[in-house]
Amino acid sequence: MPSENAGSARVATVFTGGTIAVSANKVAKNVPVLSGREILERVPEIAQYLPGLKLQVHDFATLPGPHISPEMMLTLASFVRALLEHSDGIVITHGTDSMEECAYFLDLVIGDRIPVVFTGSMHPATDAAWDGGQNLVDACAVAASGAFQKMGTLVVMAGQVHAASEVTKSHTMKDDTFRSPDFGPLGTVNTLKLDAPKRIREPHRRMNLSIGEDADLPYVELIKTYSGMDDMLFVAALKAGASGIVIEAMGQGNVPPGVVNGISRAREMNVPVVITTRCLAGPVRPYYAYEGAGRELEKLGCIFAPYLSGPKARIKLMLATAAGIEGEALRALWEA
Ligand code: ASP
Repeated sequence: MPSENAGSARVATVFTGGTIAVSANKVAKNVPVLSGREILERVPEIAQYLPGLKLQVHDFATLPGPHISPEMMLTLASFVRALLEHSDGIVITHGTDSMEECAYFLDLVIGDRIPVVFTGSMHPATDAAWDGGQNLVDACAVAASGAFQKMGTLVVMAGQVHAASEVTKSHTMKDDTFRSPDFGPLGTVNTLKLDAPKRIREPHRRMNLSIGEDADLPYVELIKTYSGMDDMLFVAALKAGASGIVIEAMGQGNVPPGVVNGISRAREMNVPVVITTRCLAGPVRPYYAYEGAGRELEKLGCIFAPYLSGPKARIKLMLATAAGIEGEALRALWEA
């Protein structure tokens, strides 16, 4: 829908919880409790700045971000899919702690038919510094705008529009915590200052992985490396039946020598091992050749996942495995 028609767009709002639903009073004690309607009542600016917008309200959950599991993400994806046909855009409110994982999950399984926009807040709705109102108006403007079509799932927070695959929560408390450290935001928006959604660039890379609505999501472990590490966590993950292991390696994709044995065992068992980095930004690649370095991991058959965080690589490996993708087809999903 072209941006000049944004005012008459149909936007479905889906409320899942998070700080944007927190009422910080003595009774509620900093837990998400507010319904979609109770949140929207606090945001008269939506009608003011986007007159004519046709808003639907759906209460999905009132959960904090850390309580949202991949299984719930799959249920949310089905819920959202059912809304696509009768909407021009979707806005999902979500706890910021796991927003990047849930947004990326939906990005992979929903496709880019209409914009799906995640937002939330860093302050409770009852706080004078509540940022949720502005974020909600901005998210609705982006969902209704023609500027962000065919870009998949987005995160709109603090006046910036980010690609789900690129964004991360970078600060525990600041309002502008969401950053895309490798590529920067896709665009900007500040409805209250009358700055319409503006697109700067395309997402770096998008893909779709279709899985059934009742698919079984496999157990994929995520292991972060540290100096002097041994293979204990790898052995434990394999013993627990991991279908895949994602490693947050050091630097460009290197691990301490004590870890190599665990990776070899995983590969002997044909368990895919995906290498990401514990650095905030930058690609991974098989560059160095010492023990535990990228070239050795490459020889062991590890897959390198450039520009993807460990938690997102885990979501992707879970979905790819659930979709039955393996071997060379699995490897091909991770090329830069
Ligand atoms: N801990 C909260 C949550 O993720 C943080 C937030 O929503 O901003 O639910």
